[in-house]
Amino acid sequence: MKQIIKNGFVINPAQGFSGKADILINYGVIERVAENINDYDAKVIDAENMIVAPGLVDLHVHFREPGYEHKENILTGSRSAAKGGVTTVLCMPNTNPPIDNAALVEYVINRGKKAGLINVLTTGCVTKGQKGEELTEMAELKESGAVAFSDDGRPVSSSGIMRRALQYANMIDMPIMDHCEDLSLVDNGSMNDGFTSTYLGLRGIPKSAESAAVSRDILLAEELGAKLHICHISTKNSIEAVRAAKARGARITAETAPHYFALTDKACDGFNTNAKMNPPLRDDEDVEAIISALADGTIDAIATDHAPHHSDDKRIEFEKAANGIVGLETSLSLGITYLVKTGRLSMMQLIEKMSTKPAEIINCGRGTLNVGAPADIVIFDENEKYTVDASTFASKGKNTPFNNMELYGRVHRTITGGKTVFSL
Ligand SMILES: [Zn+2]
Repeated sequence: MKQIIKNGFVINPAQGFSGKADILINYGVIERVAENINDYDAKVIDAENMIVAPGLVDLHVHFREPGYEHKENILTGSRSAAKGGVTTVLCMPNTNPPIDNAALVEYVINRGKKAGLINVLTTGCVTKGQKGEELTEMAELKESGAVAFSDDGRPVSSSGIMRRALQYANMIDMPIMDHCEDLSLVDNGSMNDGFTSTYLGLRGIPKSAESAAVSRDILLAEELGAKLHICHISTKNSIEAVRAAKARGARITAETAPHYFALTDKACDGFNTNAKMNPPLRDDEDVEAIISALADGTIDAIATDHAPHHSDDKRIEFEKAANGIVGLETSLSLGITYLVKTGRLSMMQLIEKMSTKPAEIINCGRGTLNVGAPADIVIFDENEKYTVDASTFASKGKNTPFNNMELYGRVHRTITGGKTVFSL
């Protein structure tokens, strides 16, 4: 029952600690963190030359169950997470049917437990059937285990409904995770409006389709003192709105996804449907704004928006292709390659954005290596280079724009509650 992770370089943002240390795990809980722990009853895991960090917490995944199991299911999604060093995920509710009642919330949680690899948490819908008309029974969803509300995949278009949702969620102390999109501005666009869309002859989506919705919802939440989490932020103006709201003391948090700091809309060239996502990839100015906002704390978290699709949904014309990419197995490497190796974020900051902060946003009691915390741990080599090979993904989805790219940072072992759920 006892294990010691020895000789690793431990990073624990919750206590601002980084340094050489051993970690003693007993009955799935962290019992001691100190130099040179020896216990003859314990199994030793050697982490020489590795970083030992709290397991990653991903606030935004699509595990597609129920309804779209040909794209992913909770077991394959869990395997994909474990392979990427992710020990806790928050599922978005745009399944079929959408997670808009207590029975479905319990279903997802139970399927996660049955898979038994990582902590599978779920959101519940803001509105019934994600139709944007009638609020769900939010208190019941919370009681059955939902940790946040979202209509992700779709925006809550009516300001009035959104205001009532925020009011109600606030009464029961739950955050709303906001997919910000003004559909009247999207107007059937399929990629970012700019040089590349013009060159490819594709209808563009203006940046204001996101930032106008972000601004509206910040104003609504602020007026009510409600908690609002902005999902997959992608534009400079959205970031400016979040930064200003935070400065005023509003209870706003925000996440971005690795593709928004690693790629621009140029990746859509050649009608590359693996670079099609929602919100769309933006341009250099936005990438720079995102990286600065991660560094200065305006953006709290990095989430993957893990969105596996069957190849049939991607091997079609760009306009008709599905949005999204497989994210869980490349997120840590993309963070290391594009943020840490470039000197923009420290490793401590990266782990904070990928584990400690997201855990705080949903208050799930994880994302730390503190004594007494569940032993959710990732062990990785930040300097190991490897080439992404989508055919080896544990996810059912192989849709990634990062295939064949060389990245830094390889996960060697993932531990959830003391149990090794992935090892190289
Ligand atoms: Zn979304």
